[in-house]
Amino acid sequence: MNSVAGTASARIGRHDLGRLTGEPVDLVIVGGGITGAGVARHAAQAGLRTLLFEAEDFASGTSSRSTKLVHGGLRYLAMGDFALVREGALERKSLLAMAPHLTEPRWMLVPAASRLTYWKLRIGISLYERLGAVAVHERHRNLRGAELAAAEPQLDGNRNPWACLYREYHTDDARLVLATLRAAAAAGATICNHVRVESIIRNPDGCEVVVRDARTGLQHEFAVPVLVNAAGPWVETLLDCSDGGARGAGSFGKSLYLSKGVHLVVDHARLPVRNMVMMTATDGRPVFAIARDGVTYVGTTDTAHSGGPEHWPVVEARDVDYLIATANAHFPSARLERADVLASWAGLRPLIRQVGKAPKEMSRRDEIWRDGPLVTVAGGKLTGFRRMAEQTIAAVSAVLGRRLEMPAPLAPLPGGERADLPALAREIAVRYQVDAPVAGRLTRLYGSETFAMLGDQPTPLSPSVFREEVRWAVEVEGADTLEDVVYRRLRAAWYLPNECEDLLERAVELMGELLGWDAARRTRELAATGARLAAERAFV
Ligand SMILES: Cc1cc2nc3c(=O)[nH]c(=O)nc-3n(C[C@H](O)[C@H](O)[C@H](O)COP(=O)(O)OP(=O)(O)OC[C@H]3O[C@@H](n4cnc5c(N)ncnc54)[C@H](O)[C@@H]3O)c2cc1C
Repeated sequence: MNSVAGTASARIGRHDLGRLTGEPVDLVIVGGGITGAGVARHAAQAGLRTLLFEAEDFASGTSSRSTKLVHGGLRYLAMGDFALVREGALERKSLLAMAPHLTEPRWMLVPAASRLTYWKLRIGISLYERLGAVAVHERHRNLRGAELAAAEPQLDGNRNPWACLYREYHTDDARLVLATLRAAAAAGATICNHVRVESIIRNPDGCEVVVRDARTGLQHEFAVPVLVNAAGPWVETLLDCSDGGARGAGSFGKSLYLSKGVHLVVDHARLPVRNMVMMTATDGRPVFAIARDGVTYVGTTDTAHSGGPEHWPVVEARDVDYLIATANAHFPSARLERADVLASWAGLRPLIRQVGKAPKEMSRRDEIWRDGPLVTVAGGKLTGFRRMAEQTIAAVSAVLGRRLEMPAPLAPLPGGERADLPALAREIAVRYQVDAPVAGRLTRLYGSETFAMLGDQPTPLSPSVFREEVRWAVEVEGADTLEDVVYRRLRAAWYLPNECEDLLERAVELMGELLGWDAARRTRELAATGARLAAERAFV
């Protein structure tokens, strides 16, 4: 199998914490979602000695459970948040420059049931394009009649006689996190996976951070002048374990509001959308249907989450029924049922609470709270991670009392060296003798690194996946469990649900060889991931 020795500088995940405790550190970041990843990349590029801890797996929180749109959010126009819309619409251009393989421009079709809605939509989208400085050839088209039927044949044209087709960008959230973390590592950051921050004690020089490494079970302590809390839905939990619970989020006069968002996965043949489609649910909320690899995913819901910040919030039968009803109302010939659902995911939006507002009305803005050496970043969207990182580093620089330079904010992320993706996909297809869907999948996951990852003669693990991808996940991308590989590296759990169960046994064997797992550990890994996959089809 291919060796991945040449990529050492951009490796993330495993570090000897005992050895690291003696080394000087400028900044500790808690949380390996997109927020922490963005801050780590900026900090390392600005020359800070940066250490990031992720308690579970990179991107295993909200940052693998989003709708995966890099967007200004057309719907925020209706909320009157023009600045947020403009920022998102412009930010996607930056992402396209940094990671073209993870920022795919695609058409979004928005059906309209009435002439009034259609005209409002046309005006809204024109404004959106103006705010986002969209190029003329990328501007929207208005569709009706035969043109609409040709663009989206299964859409109910009687219910929705009009539509607008405009440009949005589609990403792979978890892969974006991994690429950003690897860019941070390439710039000198130390990025640790499966290491939980257990407590933070402030002192006159900054703070003392106590962590526990899940691999060894050992505790370690680090002294650091400034700490960034980027723990997403867990930012309050982390503040509660700071200074023995004396400094909860309440000390900022703010609190988090957790809103649950669910997505369902069905076979693409059962909901064969040609574009990304923005449907309207009975309560007026937008619900997207998005094709990816061999599936279509439908989401999201937006409901109050009554429990705490669980790692795997439960998908309930009513969430499933709401999404299926919305899809069937727009695509009646699909006749989707619960039995069609191949997988599902639920994520928690960490919103800043706004008293008296429903979840769908609350702002998606981010906020930075500073308290001595603790800088907390809360709220926000995946789309705005780069700008959030800039603002967070400005706050860090204020704590450190040092001016920091940002050398190359748009430098490519690993895999982002080539923008000519169709040509790259064709080269991959020819070189490895694979069909277009497999080449397309590899291009979207690994971009220009596909050749370094696969090497000369890759070995198939399943019809779409290669053994070399598992090795890459473990050796370069810091995967430590079967779930880390299947869910957030290969993306097989949600995008290849029909292949996923078959590849588990072969993947666990290979991981066992790479990581020295005994038979008992292999059995435990298979059982844990198998149970997770089953839970995503069993709705309470
Ligand atoms: C359903 C849904 C759809 C969305 N769709 C979009 C979209 O289409 N586009 C968009 O731009 N945004 C979208 N968002 C918003 C976006 O996903 C989030 O804003 C973003 O992922 C938050 O990232 P984060 O890094 O702040 O949090 P997270 O990704 O949750 O990361 C926090 C990390 O901190 C770790 N952690 C917690 N406690 C500790 C500890 N003590 N020690 C170490 N680590 C710890 C966690 O394990 C976790 O990995 C969506 C959100 C949801 C829920």
